[in-house]
Amino acid sequence: MKNYVFVLFFPLFSLLAHPAWGHGPHEHGVARLNVALEGQRLSIELDSPLANLLSFEHAPRTDPQRNEVRAMAARLRRAETLFVPSGAAACHLASAALESENLPGNLLDSAASSSARPDDAQAGDEKTNAAEHADLEGAFVFQCDKPEALARIDVRLFGAFPALREIEVQFVVHGRQGAIALTPKSSVLEW
Ligand SMILES: [Zn+2]
Repeated sequence: MKNYVFVLFFPLFSLLAHPAWGHGPHEHGVARLNVALEGQRLSIELDSPLANLLSFEHAPRTDPQRNEVRAMAARLRRAETLFVPSGAAACHLASAALESENLPGNLLDSAASSSARPDDAQAGDEKTNAAEHADLEGAFVFQCDKPEALARIDVRLFGAFPALREIEVQFVVHGRQGAIALTPKSSVLEW
């Protein structure tokens, strides 16, 4: 029933709202995806409570916690293995950016730039007692050689992050707008 209501009313709501999700309600187990194909550019925005991706939501305080953040970030940056577009569309990951108010940027960046933002580590530590809950925002851009062949995206986040049980997706693809809820048993986005 919940999903039915969501699908029924979201298109009306989305006409009024900003197309991006922004910060939705923070519900553990649930994440949001915003998918848009514009020309050859396929952009995927992820907004998820950190609890879906890590065993904690506060700023990391120990080396094991920092390592957990690095591993989570490395997994998400391999976005071509988490969001698998139709092969015929020939999409290639062009960029992946991660951000969270409770996580230092140098732990989220690729290893190559891990020393480039020393101030972030301190900023993250200072926020240890800040928000009890926090989200992670990911922005992933794919370049598709044959965007007209993009028929589906296999979303494999559930396998990578078992705490995740539902992904609420909004998409604008081929001039069509829609919303769908993905689950571990039904994780392919099709339009
Ligand atoms: Zn939380």
